[in-house]
Amino acid sequence: MSQIRFYNTLSKKVELFEPLEPGVVRIYSCGPTVYSHPHIGNFRSFLMADVLRRFLEFQGFTVKHVMNITDVGHLTSDADVGADKLEEAARKEKKDPLQIAQFYIDSFKTASALLNLKPADIYPRATEHIGEMIAMVETLIKKGHAYVVGQNVYYDVCTFKNYGKLSGNTLEELNAGARIEINPEKRHPQDFALWKHDPHHIQQWDSPWGRGFPGWHIECSAMSTRYLGEQFDIHTGGEDNIFPHHECEIAQSEGVTDKRWVRYWLHARFLMFDGEKMSKSKGNLYTIQQLVEKGFKKQAIRYALISSHYRQNYNFTFDGLKAAEQAVEKITQCVFLLRQAADRAGMNIRHEVADVIQAAVDGFAEAMGDDLNMSKALAHVFELVRDANRLADASGAEARMLLTAFERIDSVLGILESAAGEIPADITALAEERKQAKLSKNWARADQIRNELTAKGYILEDMPGHEYRIKRKEA
Ligand code: AMP
Ligand code: ZN
Repeated sequence: MSQIRFYNTLSKKVELFEPLEPGVVRIYSCGPTVYSHPHIGNFRSFLMADVLRRFLEFQGFTVKHVMNITDVGHLTSDADVGADKLEEAARKEKKDPLQIAQFYIDSFKTASALLNLKPADIYPRATEHIGEMIAMVETLIKKGHAYVVGQNVYYDVCTFKNYGKLSGNTLEELNAGARIEINPEKRHPQDFALWKHDPHHIQQWDSPWGRGFPGWHIECSAMSTRYLGEQFDIHTGGEDNIFPHHECEIAQSEGVTDKRWVRYWLHARFLMFDGEKMSKSKGNLYTIQQLVEKGFKKQAIRYALISSHYRQNYNFTFDGLKAAEQAVEKITQCVFLLRQAADRAGMNIRHEVADVIQAAVDGFAEAMGDDLNMSKALAHVFELVRDANRLADASGAEARMLLTAFERIDSVLGILESAAGEIPADITALAEERKQAKLSKNWARADQIRNELTAKGYILEDMPGHEYRIKRKEA
């Protein structure tokens, strides 16, 4: 296995990856706030985590992946003011917050399945983990990291000497540029709410400090600890999660345990549209469903969102999506032909073929191990496509070996349709009928069948000895 390296937002360096427990990787990903349909920008971040997880599994690790669902506490402003996004949606849509959450959880899961994301091992919901959050806040108060004012609880950032170590937003830096609204309850303007009292909030729970609801950041600290332990390997999110969300998560979790919490922090840069971050608040968004309704294939949408390096902004365009469709078609077509060739006789495997396969799979793994360098990894895939297409005379054994390589690579990419190589029975029946028509010199019927097949999206290529090969028509 080649070495795996990731850029760690914490150290700002590319580091060798080694999990805490040999052979096992624990990953926590910040999931959706379920107040509207997720957009393709959200999915760029979720897909980064999916590709990361799939690649680690490709390398033989057992992965435990947790992705939370935020269904309370995420306010419209990062500075502890503004409405709870979920409650705002509930009021607007005249529904219960629980109904809103369920509706958009379903939407998120449908879109995830469409884009072939491997389901996380668990999707914990904030509203179902209030007990764990309260326990954590109590410990923070006991340890002097948090204080109570009335029925609110705040984290005292001055008590955590490493505040700012992830984002670079140290207290000195923040104070210098202080623009934050002064909340007279807070000891320091950067202190953040762990528990909030608001009589108008719809979702409320009993706590030692009165009825209220949790802050957004405490949710991820509490749920990650519950399912992954006090220390784990990788935490992912989009770049806007770095501050304040992840900075505050570190202060909370390490404030409780006094241990280093997460070893590697991976953040996806934004998906942009028309030069701006795609976001729910700006409304400049596309959902997966909208793109599918426009006629784009789900495999192409997935490919477009994973094909550029996750640490570079991805500028979404329809031309880019069309190019993604062609790229997916090229790979699918190649695999389609290989699946037919796999039935051929012949057990010989030429050295040249075995070498080409080895070089492609190794090159792919090495590129992915280089901080998930997807463009370089894809270059190896297309080299393999070119080589496989050149090997039209491959033996059955060679075709099967090539197929295995594509399937292994696709365990990471996740873009091949599972039935890519299966020719529907009616198509094979027509192709056979045409062969018989040609044998009995019924050229008119043979031509008619060829046209029928073309209309159904398949092309017949004649081979020597009245044999034929069926190709899918390019999309
Ligand atoms: P939210 O549903 O707003 O909590 O966001 C869910 C995830 O999507 C978070 O990890 C965000 O950082 C991420 N995200 C939001 N907008 C974008 C974008 N335009 N590009 C990439 N990731 C994004
Ligand atoms: Zn989070």
